[in-house]
Amino acid sequence: MAKRVYQVWKGNNRFIFGGRLVFGPDARSLLITVSLILVPIVIFCVFVARNLLHSFPAYNAGYAILVVSIAFTIYVLVLLLITSTHDPGIVPRASHPPEEEFRFDSSASVEVGGRQTPSLQFPLTKEVLFNGIPVKVKYCDTCMLYRPPRCSHCSICNNCVERFDHHCPWVGQCIGQRNYRYFFLFVSSSTVLCIYVFSVSALYMKILMDKDHLSIWNAMKESPAAVIIMAYCFISLWFVGGLTGFHLYLIGTNQTTYENFRYRGDNRLNVYNRGCLNNFLEVLCTRVQPSRNDFRAYVQEVSRSPAPRAREMEADDTTTDPRPKVEDDLEIGGDILKISQRHNFEEVEMEIRDRGSNGPYDVALGAESVFYSDQQVHVDRPGEHRSSWEILSEVLNMSSGAAKIT
Ligand SMILES: [Zn+2]
Ligand SMILES: [Zn+2]
Repeated sequence: MAKRVYQVWKGNNRFIFGGRLVFGPDARSLLITVSLILVPIVIFCVFVARNLLHSFPAYNAGYAILVVSIAFTIYVLVLLLITSTHDPGIVPRASHPPEEEFRFDSSASVEVGGRQTPSLQFPLTKEVLFNGIPVKVKYCDTCMLYRPPRCSHCSICNNCVERFDHHCPWVGQCIGQRNYRYFFLFVSSSTVLCIYVFSVSALYMKILMDKDHLSIWNAMKESPAAVIIMAYCFISLWFVGGLTGFHLYLIGTNQTTYENFRYRGDNRLNVYNRGCLNNFLEVLCTRVQPSRNDFRAYVQEVSRSPAPRAREMEADDTTTDPRPKVEDDLEIGGDILKISQRHNFEEVEMEIRDRGSNGPYDVALGAESVFYSDQQVHVDRPGEHRSSWEILSEVLNMSSGAAKIT
C-alpha cells in the first residue's frame, strides 16, 4: 500500500484528517489558546450580555450586543484555526544537495591513498538578486537547498519556511508567507474583541449604578463576573494590543519578526521595503500563494539510493574542520563566492557535460530549481539514469590525483 506524503513527512508537523490539516508539533497549545478566548466570552455572554438583552428596547440593541459578541468570537476562532492548520509556506526538502553548486576546495584537499583529493563543498551562502539588489541566501543542510530570500529553518517544526516570521507557541504553528495575514488578522481582531467586551462590561456596570443608584463598589459586588471580565480584558489588551501595534509597524516597514530581532541595530538597508502603503497591500491584499506541499499525494517508489549528504562527501576531515555556521542568512553587498571558486565548479560541470550520456537534465538545472526544487518524493523519477550527483562523484574519484584542479 503506497504511503502518502504526510505519512513519511520528515518535519515535526502533525497531521489530521488524512493530511488535510497540518499543525506544528506543539499544536496542543492551541487548546489553551482557544479556551483563553472561549471561557471569558461564555462568562461575558451569560453574566453580562444576557442581562443587557432588554436594556435597550429601541432597535433591540440588547440582542445585537449578544449576537455581535458571538459572531465576532467565531470569526476570531476561525482566523486562529486557519493560521494554525494551514501550511505556513514550508519549502519542500530536496532529495539530494544541489549538484550544480559543487565546487572543489583545493585548500581543504586531503590525502586519500597517497593522492591529493580535492574536498567537495557547497558554498555556505550564495548571492541572488532581489529587485536588482544582491541578497545572500544560506544553504540549509537539513533541507539540502539554498533557502529563498527571507526563508528560515524553524528548529521546532524542522522545516524551512518562506518569509519566516516566527514560530508562535500560542498558535502551535510557524508563522510564514502563507499564514501571516491570518495571524495578523487574528491578533488584531482579538484586540478589537477585547475592547468590545471591556466596553460592554463597563456599560453594564454603569447601567447597574444608574438603575439602583449604587456606588461603584456596590455595582462591582452586584456583578463580580463583569469585574473579572474587565480585568481579564485589560490585561489581555496589553498583550494582544501590543502585538497588534508591533505587527502594524512590521507590516508598514515590510519586516518579519525574525528580521527585526536579528538585524536590529544593524542599520542595514531593507531591500523589501516598498513604501508603507505598498507594504500593507503586499501583506494584506496579495493572493496567498498555493502550498508547495501536497501532503496527501502518494509517495512514489524510490528507485535509487539517496545521495550522500554534503558533509559525508567532505572526505574524512569533517570532524576536524566542521563547516562553520553562517551567522547571517541575509546580507547585502559583499561577495562570499569568489569567481575563481565558481570557475572550478564550471570545469566539473563541463566534464559532466562531456560525459554526456545521461542527458541534459541535471546540469541544466538553474538556481530556480534549487530554490524551488520539487518535493523529495517526486523528484526521484523511476527508471531515470544516474543523476549528475552520481556522475559528479565518479568524476571526482577519477580526477583525484590525476587532474589537479586549482
Ligand atoms: Zn531547512
Ligand atoms: Zn515552526
